[in-house]
Amino acid sequence: MLEAAADAVYNPFHMKSALTIAGFDPTGGAGLQADLAVFRTLGVFGLSTVAALTAQNSSGVSAVTPVNSRFLRKQLDVLFQDLLPDAVKIGMLLAGDNVRTVASALRRHDLRNVVLDPVFLSSTGKRLAEKDVPALLREKIIPRCSVVTPNFHEAAVLAGIKIRSSRDREKAASVLHAMGAEAVIITGGHAEGSADDLFFNGTFHLLKGQRVQGEFHGTGCTFSAAVAAFLAKGESPLQAAKSAKAFMRKAFGRSFSAGGRLRLFDIR
Ligand code: PLP
Repeated sequence: MLEAAADAVYNPFHMKSALTIAGFDPTGGAGLQADLAVFRTLGVFGLSTVAALTAQNSSGVSAVTPVNSRFLRKQLDVLFQDLLPDAVKIGMLLAGDNVRTVASALRRHDLRNVVLDPVFLSSTGKRLAEKDVPALLREKIIPRCSVVTPNFHEAAVLAGIKIRSSRDREKAASVLHAMGAEAVIITGGHAEGSADDLFFNGTFHLLKGQRVQGEFHGTGCTFSAAVAAFLAKGESPLQAAKSAKAFMRKAFGRSFSAGGRLRLFDIR
C-alpha cells in the first residue's frame, strides 16, 4: 500500500485518479483531506478542489463558509484543462451556487463515475448545507451519478419521505434511483439496530455490517471516497460498495480519540 502511495506522487499519469470536490476540515478527519488520504491508501492519484471551509476540531464544527462559486468553477475548469479524473467524489458544497457550478462542470467535461455524498448536517448537529441544496442536488447532480451514498437522514430529505422501517428505506432508495442515479447506497451506520447498508441499482442488495460502538468523524466522507476510488479502478458500483465497506471495517479498527467527542480514522 505504501509503495502505491509513493508511486502516486511521482507517476500521476501511470495510475488511476479520483477528484474530490468537498469541504476543508482542519482536523483532516472529514472533507477533502480525508478523501485524499483514502485515495492515496487505495493507490489512486488524488485531485482536490475546495467548495467550502470549516472551523472545527474533534468536538464538532464551529463555523462554515462557502468558497465563491466563480472561484470553484475556475478551480474545476483549470484542472480539467489537463487532468480528467477517472472518478469524482462530491462532498460538502454548502451553497446552492456551488451545486450549480459543479453540475455545470460535470456536464461540460462529461465526467463519469460520479459519487455524491450528500452532506446536510454534521454528526454534532451543525448545518453544513444551505436550504436550497437538497432540491438542487436532486435536480442537477443525482441524475449524473453512478453512486449516491446518503445516510438515513440524508436519504429521507432527498427522497422527501420519512424513513421509519426497512420498507421506507427501500422506498427512499427507489425514489433516488428513479431520479437517475445508477446506484444508491443508504448507509446504516446512523440507524438503530444493525449497521447494514442498503444498495439498490434496480435490484436490492443488503450489505451486512457489524455495528461499531462510538461516535466517529468523517464516516460518510471516508466511505464515499473509497467507493469513488474503487470505481476509478474499474469496479462496478456493487463491487465498489462491497470493497468500500470492507475498507471501512479496517478504518473503524484503526480509529482513535483526539481528545474531543468524536473518534477520527487513521487512514493508511
Ligand atoms: N466537515 C466537512 C468538511 C465534512 O464534509 C463533513 C461531513 O461530510 C463534516 C465536517 C461532518 O463530519 P461528521 O458529521 O462525520 O463529523
